[in-house]
Amino acid sequence: MKATSGQHATPVICYSNAMEDQVYGGVEGGGTKFVCAVGTKAGKIIGQTEIATRTPDETLEEICKFFEQQPSVISLGVGSFGPVYLDSNSDDYGTIGKTTKLGWENVAIKAVLENRLKVPVEIDTDVNCAALGEKFFGQARQIDNFVYMTVGTGIGGALVAGGELYHGTSHIELGHMYVPHGQFPDSFTGTCPSHGDCLEGIASGVAMEQRWGKRPENIIDPKAWELEASYLGIAIANLAMTLYPKLFILGGGVMKHSGLIDAVQKHVERGVNKYLILPPINSYVVQSSNPSNAVLGAILLAPV
Ligand code: ZN
Repeated sequence: MKATSGQHATPVICYSNAMEDQVYGGVEGGGTKFVCAVGTKAGKIIGQTEIATRTPDETLEEICKFFEQQPSVISLGVGSFGPVYLDSNSDDYGTIGKTTKLGWENVAIKAVLENRLKVPVEIDTDVNCAALGEKFFGQARQIDNFVYMTVGTGIGGALVAGGELYHGTSHIELGHMYVPHGQFPDSFTGTCPSHGDCLEGIASGVAMEQRWGKRPENIIDPKAWELEASYLGIAIANLAMTLYPKLFILGGGVMKHSGLIDAVQKHVERGVNKYLILPPINSYVVQSSNPSNAVLGAILLAPV
């Protein structure tokens, strides 16, 4: 990152009934797949495909081919796995940062797509796009201050404040906060290459797989899920104290485990310990309602 002035050009979230007929592109880029869609800002999807994440050259080529075969889009919104450089004054704007995803570091996604497809491209993180999707089509309609957290392969988060995505110097990194780790019978040292036992290092899907020797969807030991719920609950209680948002929305593959959301809610209540006045916990910490929200959010991000 060559400049750190934090001048992210906060995208204007473009939603208006007047634009319902215009067609935009959306890309949700993850570590295992890219979801590409063509649709309207009213949430109507006209065409959609999923592309396995391979080398940057192969993946971006396939993305471009998809959009070249669709009705022409006015512009494109991209929600990418992070970190992504979002400082519009930097030469690195729209480029993937330091990542363990092989070959993807320093890939200029925004520039590559703009040059090939000849349309303006706006970029943010996949998690921020999912939060936008929740704001307009999901659990956060009518709510201007909320946190979205995804618990999947990794852990990521977004803050919507005053109806807008919050960017500080760049996008936030909720997954890398530290939570108390030593108070549980847990000798696992964590998987985060940068921090070891940050939240992502001890509670992501990857961390669960390494700790328990099987993928999260195959883990049935209640101890495993109680520990998982405790870490997520502590993290959310910390965020509740820090930000006091109106709502928490939890998405991602790990959250699909039956009963996890209820266990997390109990730990949030325990952590907050009635210090904050909160709505009923099952309406304050809720599950994402629609897995397509991230690509719908990417379409919302597309410039008009
Ligand atoms: Zn970390």
